[in-house]
Amino acid sequence: MSIENEIWKTITSARCVLLTSHERVDGDGIGSELALMHMARGAGVECVIINDEAIPVEYEFLPGAEKICKISDGRQDEFDLVVSLDSASLERLRKVKDRLPKGVKIINIDHHISNTQYGDINWVGHEASSTGEIIFNLAQANGIAITPEIATCLYTAIITDTGRFCYSNTSSHTHLAAAELVRCGASPSEISRQIYRAERSNVLRLRQLALATLELSADGQIACIDVAAEMHRQTGTKYQDTHDFVDMPKSIKGVEVALLFREIAEDGKTRVSMRSEGRIDMNTLAQKFGGGGHKRAAGCTIDGSIEHAHKCILPVVEKLLETQRQNEKEQ
Ligand code: AMP
Ligand code: MN
Ligand code: MN
Repeated sequence: MSIENEIWKTITSARCVLLTSHERVDGDGIGSELALMHMARGAGVECVIINDEAIPVEYEFLPGAEKICKISDGRQDEFDLVVSLDSASLERLRKVKDRLPKGVKIINIDHHISNTQYGDINWVGHEASSTGEIIFNLAQANGIAITPEIATCLYTAIITDTGRFCYSNTSSHTHLAAAELVRCGASPSEISRQIYRAERSNVLRLRQLALATLELSADGQIACIDVAAEMHRQTGTKYQDTHDFVDMPKSIKGVEVALLFREIAEDGKTRVSMRSEGRIDMNTLAQKFGGGGHKRAAGCTIDGSIEHAHKCILPVVEKLLETQRQNEKEQ
């Protein structure tokens, strides 16, 4: 049996499924969870989505978003299956990991190269732009009707993980999937308006503060910006408001590696987002610091201040760039 059929058969044989995704969940995680919830409910299977934290406001328009629960809601359902979406490891589920029902099968559907294959059934499509694209394949392979609700959720998953079809993970299949989703009822203009043209003025002020920290090094090949907890206090914003801030240093001409350092005030840690134009492998870099991700986009969390995180990571990136330069010279 194909993986697509095996997974759908397992889901439709369950009574009540727990759907979840990684900590600080993003458009791909939320879109995939909601799409799969609509698909399973259409087949008469009950689903509950539980994430580590609340979802960012820009995704609240998604059909079914009001049904998404947080771990702190303390739901006590009797689950007989878990489906984890877009999470490279069990650790990335954060608090949800400790609340997983015992002795229940886990289906792991993801697209990160660093995926640890932690499920009883694993579908890790490295070539897929997003987990949303994999869920689209699941629907196609099983002849599941794509309603406008499902189409909206999957289109959102795809555009957010491909940076609106700009990143190198965008393939012809990604475009074909998106075209089919539009045919099934997803509205590109409305979805983009909700996600990209609804920035609050205080978030724009936060951008201004973050951009003022811009530092370039290694002859302009590395660009980094910082977001300190104090900036959130000044502007009345939250950590989630900065999910695409790494695009600012990334957009500079000549920048090979862009880094975003975000202070997590509650636990004295710094979250680092890493982006590359392709010469340096960000997954390998992030894994050196206990994180992971993809070749061109990855992340990790450093124990300590932003300044400490700079000191840990910048010399390693500089060295990797230098080694790469030597290798290219020799070829
Ligand atoms: P971010 O910088 O948080 O947007 O993450 C960039 C990419 O790397 C996203 O696809 C994340 O899902 C992935 N990623 C970030 N942190 C980790 C981690 N600790 N383990 C695995 N993948 C990660
Ligand atoms: Mn994600
Ligand atoms: Mn993803």
